[in-house]
This record gives sequence, C-alpha cells and structure tokens, in this order.
Amino acid sequence: MDKNYFTNKNILEILDLYKPIAGLESASELLFWDSETYMPKGAAEDRGFVVGQLAAISQEKLLEPKLKKLVKETDSSTLNDYEKAVLRVLKKAIKIQEKIPAEFIKEFTKLTSESHHIWAEAKEKNNFKLFAPNLEKIIELTKKRIDYLGFEDHPYDTLIDDFEEGWTVKDCDAYFNAIKTPLTELLNKIKGSAKFNAPCSLKNEPYQKADIQKLQDFILDFLKFDKSRMRLDTSAHPFEIAISPNDVRMTTRYKEADFKESVTSVMHEFGHTIYEAKGSEQLSFTPLQHGASMASHESQSRLWENIIGKHPVILEKIYIEAKKYLPFMQKYSFEDFSLYFNEVQPGFIRVEADEVTYHFHIMLRYEIEKMIFENKVKVVDLPELWNTKMNEYLGVVPKMDSLGVLQDIHWSAGYFGYFPTYSLGTFMSGMWAKNLEKSLGSFDKILGNNNSIPEIQAWLQENMHQFGQTYTSKELIRQATNADFTTKPFLDYLEKKYSKVYDF
Ligand code: MG
Repeated sequence: MDKNYFTNKNILEILDLYKPIAGLESASELLFWDSETYMPKGAAEDRGFVVGQLAAISQEKLLEPKLKKLVKETDSSTLNDYEKAVLRVLKKAIKIQEKIPAEFIKEFTKLTSESHHIWAEAKEKNNFKLFAPNLEKIIELTKKRIDYLGFEDHPYDTLIDDFEEGWTVKDCDAYFNAIKTPLTELLNKIKGSAKFNAPCSLKNEPYQKADIQKLQDFILDFLKFDKSRMRLDTSAHPFEIAISPNDVRMTTRYKEADFKESVTSVMHEFGHTIYEAKGSEQLSFTPLQHGASMASHESQSRLWENIIGKHPVILEKIYIEAKKYLPFMQKYSFEDFSLYFNEVQPGFIRVEADEVTYHFHIMLRYEIEKMIFENKVKVVDLPELWNTKMNEYLGVVPKMDSLGVLQDIHWSAGYFGYFPTYSLGTFMSGMWAKNLEKSLGSFDKILGNNNSIPEIQAWLQENMHQFGQTYTSKELIRQATNADFTTKPFLDYLEKKYSKVYDF
C-alpha cells in the first residue's frame, strides 16, 4: 500500500463530508446506465423524477455550510498534490452551484429534456425549422449561464472550461490552426492515391450478432478485460460509465451489416473503461475518482481504438479470428480487411468519420459554436453556414440537414464547448503513444509479444490512470512526458500510417 495520500485534518474532514455525494453520484450513474440499456421505455418520466431528486440532495450536500467553509478556508500551502486537487475540484463545483440560481437550472433542464425529443423529430423529418426555436432558447440560456459564471477573455472560454479545465479559445484557436494545413495536405495526398475510393464490399456484408459477439469476446480476452469488475452490454449509442472503480460498464451496438463498428466501439469503450478501473484505490469515492477530463478520457479510448487497435499486428490477430466466426470473411484478404478498417473517405457524418477527416468535423463545429457566442451568426443561418464549411473542408455538401446541422445530439442537450475535446483527445493519444513507445519499444516490435498488453496498461496506470482527477489534462501531459501538449506526435503517426495504407 502506498503511503496515505490524505493526512491533512481539514482535507480528511472534507472527504468525510463528500462521501454521501459520492454515493449519490454512483447511484445516479447506475440509474443512467439502466435507462440506456434495460429500462422499459415507459419509465423515462419516472426515472427523470428520481434522478432529479438525487441531484437536488447532492447539491444540498455540496452547499452545506460546513463543507463550503472548509473548502474556502483551508490553507493549501502545506498540502500535497492530491489534497490541493480536492480543493481545486470542489471549489469549481461549488462555484457553479453557487453562482447559478436553482430556478435557472430547473428551466434549463426542462428545456433541454423537451428539446431532445424535438431535435429527434426534426432530424427524422429533416426539418431544421422544427428545432430552431428550441435551439434559440438553449443558446439564450447558455449565454445567461456565461453571465452567471463570468469570463476573462472570451465568453466561449466558460463553456470549454466546463468540459476541459484550463483550456481556452486562445488554446483551441492555436490548436486548430496547427492541424488544419497538415491535415488538408495529408487528405489531398490520400485523395491522389490509386487506392482512394477503392470499392470496399466488406461494409455491405450482413452478419449474425452471435458471430460478432464471439469476435468481441476474443478481443476483450486479448485486452485483459476483467469480467469480475467490468461489463459489456448493448445500447443505442456505445458509451462507458463508471459506477465505481470496481464496477465499470461499457456498451456496444449491432447493425444488419458493416461489422466494423461493433469491433472498434469495443476497443474504444475499453480505453475509457480501463482508465476508470485503474485509478488509485485511495481516490475511490473522493472528488478525484474519475478521469482527468473529457479530452484525457478520449485520449485513452482513441489510443486503444486506433493506434493500438488498428495497428497491423493487432489487426492481423483480429483478421485471423474473424475468419473463424464470420463465414463471409473467407473471400477477403488481410489487405482488404485492413483497408476496410483504415479507409479514409470524406463524408457527412462525424461519428462515422475516419482518423483523418474526423478533425474537420470538429473544427467546423468549434468555429460555428464560437461564432454563436460571439453573436456573429443567427440560428436561422446555421444550416447554410454548416454546408459552406463542409464544402470548404471536406468537399462534400449534405443534401439534407439530417445529414448536416441536425446530426448531433449535443446542442439539444445544451452541450456547447464539448466538441473540441473529441479532437484534442485524439491528438493527446499521439503523445501517450509516443511516450509509451519511448519506454517500452516501438509498437511494431512489441505488439506481437503476449505480455505487451499488460505492459502497456501498467505504463498507462503508472503515468496517468492512477492519478484520476488529481491533475488537469495539461499538467498530466507535462508531468508524464516532460513536454507541453503538442500536435506533432499524432500528425507524425497519421503521416507514417497513411503513407503506407495509401502508398505515397
Ligand atoms: Mg469516447
């Protein structure tokens, strides 16, 4: 057992007062998981009531005068990093709960829960006008939220900070500027390849769910998925959720054909799962229990999904197994299989995008969101702005808004400032991979060894997972890699990989 992380008397008292909040949070996570997996649909409203009640008790506990006073008045100068982080995380949570009136939270929650259905209907009917009034209201309230919380340089900073602590518009502008040109050049090289647009009939092969589940079982065994502490279930959209460090759950989904996603989603969610499962036990049920940030989390899912999961050595293992379980695989060579998993193709839909074009989907949303909060664009003009930017970045224009501005759920839930973390996290995965290879040897060499997976997991646990939320994503990277966040490792990875896939 490591020595005690928490010894300061005030901090120990704070952690004691936090325990009921951690308990309520864990219960809410379980209720969320249930509502996405096995809950009968008719229970949605009842469940909304129960979750709302738990959230209200949790808020009350967080704002208890004794806890607030301890958090505000504890002198941090003699504290260690873990203890300081407890204060940092709780100060932020208390500030949000204190500055935003309960009435506003009720209004916003009601609006977004209604908007979910309206957005879904607008998307289904391909009618942006149906959703526009709600979107206008959500934006108006989000601007009000920014007013409550305040900002220093840019109103959108406040929204980014909700999801990625310490990141600002200035950081994100610099980041997107650094990736725009190299990614455009890379995409142009790929488009110039003879292999670009090669017909890929694997995506049309229908499959049996039971067959693909055998392949998923193989992958999870290979990844050392611990069934005594982890679960895999099915939901409309794949996700991961930590009920506690010893109960981390992930989901996948199945379609009629095109089995790739059922493989990649398992790898992706596994990356999230292992991050939550490998935190230090001393952080369990404290404010530091979960991963550092959205981008940090995504850096783990994308590392396992793409850099490790689609590495030729791993892909070949999956190919050999796939031939055992999927009868149609007999017709396909490893090269076909590899191209199916790594195909680059500009398309309309973000969640289906490949590793190269994905970032343009995010860049577009980032630029549009920023314009919204700079009051530079009206809701009515969003579909056209969307299509113009799609054409500019990817050379494709969706023929209908369902495939364009209406495709993502986030805005209906009031999640502005969330999208940049998807792209940032992916680029962070490049930094983790580079440093893993520095310590353990190149993936080309080590991934063939049976013990490489546990070794990679142990390295990630030591350098990242064990710390939970102790450090922000910027600090975590600096500490583990001795460098600030940079886009170079991931750009190098893309260049090296796709020059091979597309022969240039
Ligand atoms: Mg994810």
